[in-house]
Amino acid sequence: MRTDPLSFLNTELDSLKQQGLFRKLRVLEGEAAAHATFDHKSVVNLSSNNYLGLTTHPKLKQAALDAVSKYGVGSGSVRTISGTLEMHMELERRLAAFKHVEAVVVFQSGFAANAGTVAAVLTKEDVVISDELNHASIIDGCRLSRAGIKVFPHKDVDAARKILKELPATQRKLLITDGVFSMEGDLGPLPELCSLAEEYGAIMMVDDAHASGVFGSNGSGTVDHFRCHGRVDIQVGTLSKAVGVLGGYVAGSRTLIDFLYHRARPFLFSTSHPPAVTAACLAALDVLETEPQWIEKLWDNTRFFKAGLERLGFNTGLSESPITPVIVGEAATAAKMSDTLFEHGVFAQSIGFPTVARDKARLRTIVAATHTREDLQYALDMFGKVGRELGVIQ
Ligand SMILES: *Cc1c(COP(=O)(O)O)cnc(C)c1O
Repeated sequence: MRTDPLSFLNTELDSLKQQGLFRKLRVLEGEAAAHATFDHKSVVNLSSNNYLGLTTHPKLKQAALDAVSKYGVGSGSVRTISGTLEMHMELERRLAAFKHVEAVVVFQSGFAANAGTVAAVLTKEDVVISDELNHASIIDGCRLSRAGIKVFPHKDVDAARKILKELPATQRKLLITDGVFSMEGDLGPLPELCSLAEEYGAIMMVDDAHASGVFGSNGSGTVDHFRCHGRVDIQVGTLSKAVGVLGGYVAGSRTLIDFLYHRARPFLFSTSHPPAVTAACLAALDVLETEPQWIEKLWDNTRFFKAGLERLGFNTGLSESPITPVIVGEAATAAKMSDTLFEHGVFAQSIGFPTVARDKARLRTIVAATHTREDLQYALDMFGKVGRELGVIQ
């Protein structure tokens, strides 16, 4: 018998265990909803990106079922060979109108959209100027492009300016920020960064994964929220979070999208969405446009829950969105608090390094439009009880 050549991975795993960073996957039974069953336990679910409850919306479910009946379950190919359905084109047209841009390309995920786009647009001669808390898919795109990477401290516009100022005027530059930061819940300083991009001739890119369906009119994103139309060259959105399904998209000029059709590697080399996914996304756009009550309810719930956490004395950072972190510090404390809350029927996943800084471990909470006041009050009561027991609050 040969010895397992992967046994060195155990060393890594043991180290994760020692640091309290080894996590077991929670297994969902039934629907991904505001009240859900994980590991046989019924809990108030504060760990889902399903902001508007669309994962279980009857119109989306029906659209997916109809698409399966009519078109089957798979697309059979990548977009550039034989896997482009009329529905894919319709979704891209609908999203372009929704985002007030010339054109949109849909990818299999937001991750593929970010990584594929940055890697396609830049070369090793170019430079990316990136917020330190930008999403991993942006960082991977930068690495794949082999462009130089200059990181500026979180939301520090002056630091970004300093970096831009020192770069040669002739060098191609991409200035990039998340619209909503996924672990902090705060917003990128879009108007200021757009001005910088204009001043220094940089390409301006915004990753709006957590803003899609949440910020701007009908959930069209932070560019709309900040009235920055026409100032952002590349917008990335996701169909996997508030939209409730799966996918990512890039919104911009016709030229950009035609280029990505020819050069974005996930578009060229990975199979397109099955009909059910695309049909459900189209139905989600209908819901965003005709049922504004979900977004209103989401913000109502957000204000209620955030105020409750703050009243209890938790450190909720600088959140400006339905993502409210409860920052506790040590990874082991965050894990313990999350597990204890779970036993009490509240699911708020703990998040540690490398997703957040080592001393900023947290529980990340996301309320949904579909939580009831009773759900949220119960969760607050349990946060108070467990937080006091663990000495996180007084
Ligand atoms: C979730 C997320 C993505 C990836 O989107 P998926 O559709 O889940 O692949 C990209 N960027 C940010 C900021 C995200 O939070």
